[in-house]
Amino acid sequence: MDSSNPVEDLARLRHEFGEHGGVNMSIEASSTFTVVDPATMPDIFAGRKGPDSGGCYLYGRHFNPTVYNLGRQLAALEGTEAAYCSASGMGAISAVILALCNAGDHVVASHTIYGGTWALLHDFMPAKTGVKTTFVDSNNVAAVKAAITDKTRLLYVESQSNPTLRVADIPALAAIAHEAGIPLVVDNTFTPLVLSPAHLGADIVVHSLTKFIGGASDLIGGAVCASADFIASLMDLHTGPLMILGPTMDPTVAASVAQRIPHLPLRMKAHGDRSLALAERLAALGVSVSYPGLPAHPDHKLLERLRHPDFGHGGLLTLDAGDEDTAMALMNTLQNGHQFGFVAVSLGYFDTLMSCSATSTSSEMPDDALQEAAIQPGLVRMAVGYTGTLEQRWGQLKAALEATGLA
Ligand code: PLP
Repeated sequence: MDSSNPVEDLARLRHEFGEHGGVNMSIEASSTFTVVDPATMPDIFAGRKGPDSGGCYLYGRHFNPTVYNLGRQLAALEGTEAAYCSASGMGAISAVILALCNAGDHVVASHTIYGGTWALLHDFMPAKTGVKTTFVDSNNVAAVKAAITDKTRLLYVESQSNPTLRVADIPALAAIAHEAGIPLVVDNTFTPLVLSPAHLGADIVVHSLTKFIGGASDLIGGAVCASADFIASLMDLHTGPLMILGPTMDPTVAASVAQRIPHLPLRMKAHGDRSLALAERLAALGVSVSYPGLPAHPDHKLLERLRHPDFGHGGLLTLDAGDEDTAMALMNTLQNGHQFGFVAVSLGYFDTLMSCSATSTSSEMPDDALQEAAIQPGLVRMAVGYTGTLEQRWGQLKAALEATGLA
């Protein structure tokens, strides 16, 4: 796909028919596939023939037609040559890192990333593989450059960092990575459509489909979007981590995710509009709010330069309640006193989800790492939903802030 408008590419891709002419894709439930011409079996195992290159489907842990089809939609969404899906975002992220690194290799990563990814790089990989990571402030280009060694195999950042919502300068980071001959890997979970990392220079884009793309907090999934060669290497029957480690997406999940992609643009816009409106009102009230759509955000200008104009500034904001007890009191009042959202981890749901990051989704990080990443003890991450009316939600939020002494 060479159009720069992902929505048009997706519409074109959706204009295909299911097995019996259905408007939705068919779910291929088979775990194994008939090789009609037995002589092609060795070529398929050797990777010389595949579903699109004179071979056929083989086995459900390898390519499955329904998951393959969703992969094509995600490749169109991100503007990459190819994509494939996994059972979770962590399945996608760990497969990419394991594909790029061998024992003793090195990674440079942002010091502010999802706690699970931080734990994978900081603890799990060194213990199991000897792959070590240097964590840096990825908004400091000189620090990123200085951290790269001749053993570094990838540069890893999040498009908007979890939970501090710092925006990655993807073109600048891509230039540094490419100068060093390594790929830039971007986790675009927080900003599908808002940012298109591959168009901005990233080589590999990973997603947790569990979040905005899934949109209903009812499934777990992940995806890797990259060159056809890289996706083929992940799926290599003998060496590919998505094949060997087996974080396989179920085809029923793939069909379900595909049902949500057509309204992803509408949902991202709705999340962004509501987030901006609430953030503006919070700022006007004097609450310590951070949202990349506000001019006061340190990366506002950067985001204005990089983002697609049609899908807002993202669906997350943070507010600093000062300390953990006040943060808990605020969330308790919002959820149990006003029916404003849920105290729950995750994001991209149609209702607001809120959590205190330092003791939840970033709890893998010790105090010094939390401090370095500016994840304050009272920081409340709000993944803003679009249910109800703005006035109703603002009334609830304002009342809860007043009740907890924050406004
Ligand atoms: N990337 C980011 C930015 C996340 O916030 C998360 C989960 O919260 C993940 C990846 C992991 O995704 P999953 O839970 O689908 O494995």
